Amino acid sequence: MVTLPRRTAKSAGLALLRENAGWVAASLAALPNVAPIQDGASIAIEGIPHLIRHAPHGRTPILRGNALHVPGDPAEMPQRVANFLRGHAKIRLAARAVAKAASIGLAPCRVTVRDTRSRWGSCSAQGALMFCWRLVMAPPFVQDYVVAHEVAHLRHLDHGAAFWALADILSPHRREAVSWLQANGLALLRVGRPAGAAPTRSAPTGSAKAARAPWLSAQNP
Ligand SMILES: [Zn+2]
Repeated sequence: MVTLPRRTAKSAGLALLRENAGWVAASLAALPNVAPIQDGASIAIEGIPHLIRHAPHGRTPILRGNALHVPGDPAEMPQRVANFLRGHAKIRLAARAVAKAASIGLAPCRVTVRDTRSRWGSCSAQGALMFCWRLVMAPPFVQDYVVAHEVAHLRHLDHGAAFWALADILSPHRREAVSWLQANGLALLRVGRPAGAAPTRSAPTGSAKAARAPWLSAQNP
């Protein structure tokens, strides 16, 4: 979805959409192919490469050392790995969010994870936090900043000076995290998706800049 200032001509909106579609496609084409999720492949968890192994027995994937053992039909492995990481993300991101919020005397009313394509996190006016589960593949300092950003919105539902001051108190990693996501964010979005598949549903919100750092967009409190 493209968000436009009021009174912008519809044709300008369509032009913006086309520009962004081109930018996203070019960015994805420039990336090395992300290896499919299969036995012997590597996947980052908390920023650390983990070997994916097919497990002949068992019911659920198990993390052991730097390997993720995945039972079941190999054809279902991508979905099983995604489900596992999603559950892992929920636990890790929710724990971090609750702890950070508690440090400033607040509590999110809810923390959910989703497979978003246009933002890494969000905070509703009611205090519900949402994060993209794919963040669990990123290094902890990246998760730390994105969580801090959304927790800071529990107090300031804008991107004013007070908001940034609080976000920087909650996490000292803003600069490195933004750089990391600009360099690696699209690759995270591609993991487990067919080669060449663009994050089609709503990749950029408004501008190419927003697509690179969507959670910094002013439209995305
Ligand atoms: Zn924000």
